[in-house]
Amino acid sequence: MKTVYFVVPCYNEQEVLPETSKRLLEKIDSLILQNKISEDSRIVFVDDGSRDSTYSIMRELHKQNSKFCAIKLSRNQGHQNALLSGLMTVRGKCDAAISLDADLQDDINAIDEFVDRFNEGYDVVYGVRSSRKKDTAFKRITAQGFYKLMLFFGVEMVYNHADYRLMSARALDALSDFKEVNLFLRGIVPLVGFKSTTVEYERHERFAGTSKYPLKKMIAFAIDGITSFSIKPIRMVFSVGVIILICSILVLLYSLIQWILGRTVAGWTTIVASIWALGSIQLLSLGIVGEYVGKIYKEVKARPRFTIEEALF
Ligand code: UDP
Ligand code: MG
Repeated sequence: MKTVYFVVPCYNEQEVLPETSKRLLEKIDSLILQNKISEDSRIVFVDDGSRDSTYSIMRELHKQNSKFCAIKLSRNQGHQNALLSGLMTVRGKCDAAISLDADLQDDINAIDEFVDRFNEGYDVVYGVRSSRKKDTAFKRITAQGFYKLMLFFGVEMVYNHADYRLMSARALDALSDFKEVNLFLRGIVPLVGFKSTTVEYERHERFAGTSKYPLKKMIAFAIDGITSFSIKPIRMVFSVGVIILICSILVLLYSLIQWILGRTVAGWTTIVASIWALGSIQLLSLGIVGEYVGKIYKEVKARPRFTIEEALF
């Protein structure tokens, strides 16, 4: 039987932890009872430098029941890093890890299906929201805009999937080869590859506490997502340069015609033509420099060049 660890990043979640831990324990116990996962399965909370009593609750839980584990980060390092620290800590201890939020907005009943898919041989199971009815209109619109934007910039992501997913031991191993500091897990996990599938679920409202993702963090998250995956913005500079170059040729022709027709004051033609020409040359040069910066950026990330799924000799 497979050992499955639940990994739950928590930041100032004292209002939700007592209820969350209760429900997760029920879930894990029922899965164990149904012989779907092994007795060694655990619930791992990661305290992302909370300033409230989150960690003391975790410690208490661990004392009461050894199924609860706790990791405390030295300071608030953000959701993505907290999640990664949990996943990398349980790597090697389990056959699969399921990541989920502390507020249980993601329906934990989907976990049964996650485990079924995993037992069928899938390495990555993405939880996908079937509808966003329960989200505020603002969150819904911004989130959808975000997916569209990411798609436009060529970042491969699973639509309507947040960080609610199961990853097998070997998928976690492959993930650990991604050493990048600007972490955007939703973009990285599809790059890891392996056999994957999706499971749909209803997204609930947060049952207590407040969102730890205010608009400011959401925008930072989106910018991080784009800039850690795409060099398209750099290419756009070059494209704009080309467009301006074409414009400057047209402007040159226009001003020459005006000059020939004698409809200009002295010096106008040269000034107008040189403004456009210089503008386009500058943009093109920036684009060229950017192209090299883009290459450096890719090298610096040092992403794995390949991940082997199976080899037969
Ligand atoms: N979280 C975290 N560190 C942070 C911010 C959030 O570990 O700096 C956790 C938080 O405790 C929760 C999850 O990330 O378990 C998602 O946060 P939240 O539910 O507030 O986001 P939303 O659902 O509003 O997008
Ligand atoms: Mg939430």
